[in-house]
Amino acid sequence: MRAARREFYESVSVDPTVAGLLEKAERDGVETAWHRYLAQQPQCGFGLLGVCCRNCNMGPCRIDPFGYGPQRGVCGATADTIVARNLMRMLAAGAAAHSDHARDIVEVFKGIPEGWAKDYQIRDEEKLRGIARALGIEVEGRDALEIAREVAEVLEWEFGKPGEEPLRLVEAYAPKKRREVWRRVGIMPRAIDREITEIMHRTHMGVDADPLSLIAQGLRCALADGWSGSMMATLLSDVLFGTPRPLRATANLGVIREDAVNILVHGHNPVLSVKIAEAAEDPELSKMARDLGAEGGINVVGMCCTGNEILMRMGIPVAGNMLQQELAIATGALEAVVVDYQCIMPAIVDVASCYHTKVITTEPKAHIPGAIHVEFDKARAMETAREIVRIAVENFKNRNPERVMIPEEKCELVAGFSVEAILEALGGTLDPLADALKSGKIKGIVGIVGCVNPKVRHDHGHVTLTRELIKRDILIVGTGCWAIAMGKHGLLLPEAAEMAGPGLREVCEALGIPPALHMGSCVDCSRMLIALGALADHLGVDIPDLPAAGSAPEWMSEKAVSIGSYFVASGLLVHLGTVPPVLGSKKVVEILTERAEGLVGGRFFVEPDPVKAARVIADHIAEKRRALGWPE
Ligand code: SF4
Ligand code: SF4
Repeated sequence: MRAARREFYESVSVDPTVAGLLEKAERDGVETAWHRYLAQQPQCGFGLLGVCCRNCNMGPCRIDPFGYGPQRGVCGATADTIVARNLMRMLAAGAAAHSDHARDIVEVFKGIPEGWAKDYQIRDEEKLRGIARALGIEVEGRDALEIAREVAEVLEWEFGKPGEEPLRLVEAYAPKKRREVWRRVGIMPRAIDREITEIMHRTHMGVDADPLSLIAQGLRCALADGWSGSMMATLLSDVLFGTPRPLRATANLGVIREDAVNILVHGHNPVLSVKIAEAAEDPELSKMARDLGAEGGINVVGMCCTGNEILMRMGIPVAGNMLQQELAIATGALEAVVVDYQCIMPAIVDVASCYHTKVITTEPKAHIPGAIHVEFDKARAMETAREIVRIAVENFKNRNPERVMIPEEKCELVAGFSVEAILEALGGTLDPLADALKSGKIKGIVGIVGCVNPKVRHDHGHVTLTRELIKRDILIVGTGCWAIAMGKHGLLLPEAAEMAGPGLREVCEALGIPPALHMGSCVDCSRMLIALGALADHLGVDIPDLPAAGSAPEWMSEKAVSIGSYFVASGLLVHLGTVPPVLGSKKVVEILTERAEGLVGGRFFVEPDPVKAARVIADHIAEKRRALGWPE
């Protein structure tokens, strides 16, 4: 029996911290996502195929995938319509999540010239001036606050501007060749909220029934996310908190410390996590922690994308990716989990109730029953952050040392490869990268993104695909939970170049960079768009001509649907390692995996096996190289 349990613990992840903590969690009576995933088996076949519809109260309706039962919903919607509508609603939710995150950042950014966001500053004025110039805003002879005010006005307008004019950030940052394609196909995004709203309208009962037309609107919405919403979040986070530059830090649950008050910040928006990290430096709070017996003071660690935000800007250690949130609490050593929004399992409150950990929600739009709610007031950010840190410090006395088990594993990493940092590493010009690509030292570039998912072995797809690709001299850039997985497995160290093929290894060693570059959080997939656009322009080609691809080997989030779709609309082949709920419609599958390429230059393919996926991606890259006349 014990051997069978051990086999289960070891089967769910390639991360060595998981098995031991899963065993401890079970001993402590704690249930995790892996247990709940098993309890959900078998998952509903209609849902997996995408053929159930609840879009009106004549339903729910289900289409019989075997052809014996109903082939239409009560309104007459076919499987093609239902599958396309469901997928587009996922995409809209993902775009909304990214873009609402951006809206919160614009609000704080605008609060600086308005004078109420006193605890935030313009940290990267050069970046601000660059954004203003790209948007056509006058910068000469103007001070930063004046420029910030005008930039904020333009960016706020991106959400809901009326009219048919394209989004300003799309005009400013997307390559001309791409914009021509989007105009021709009729998917040039106009306003972020409008594209999301239009999906909700089109998918209402009795509106758009054509899968192609629905998916085209989905691509338009995804472009509004990638080239405006997410991009805005990235650009302004850099202005507010600094543009990332390579730095060393550590990753995995071993960053939690027995001798310190441990605060886990989890979620997505640096507006909160940066202030918590700063408040933890407060001498009075540190003294209070030490007086209570925490000799190591206060230890802030990150999780998920907000973890990436403070990792790449402040070197704050990252405790793990999405599926490790419950295990972090099961160490018994967290005084507080401070969350904002996205990817926060409501179950953490139940896990925390088995220990002394306090879960603190901070966002008016993200409450969890059973958590303490301390609303994060951005007008008095440091005061609120100190209040939250104080709650954690005071909770240290409630820790039961007998229930503490912190894994030893943690790994060093180098994070913070913004586009600016990559350019600096290249000596200020794209020439060395272009030359390495042309000569074949670097065969291609792949952006790996997205989540972790209990449907597949945790971290396995990310690690295997990355290893397989770097071995073939393919440079990897990535974000999100992929980036954390890489950090934990040593692939973000310059020394990892030893695992790369000879050409990539030579380039990495010459530049002192890892073969897999941490570019940031989920919204920072927009950095990849900027980098690819700049590279395509530099080479005088369009993005689909580049030997490049995207991948989301373990995706689960609706945001990943939006990211994958804006990669496809930007002209990339995109690999998905978990199957999206579309197999109930041959037509939808055909549009996503074949027809999309003729329209926008990119398409999806699904391959759960990361070794096979690497082969498909490498073949695609070889084909693109042949077309460019470059050696394979
Ligand atoms: S929209 Fe049509 S398919 Fe969907 S629930 Fe209503 S009647 Fe059924
Ligand atoms: S990569 Fe996916 S799971 Fe990880 S933080 Fe982003 S959306 Fe959440």
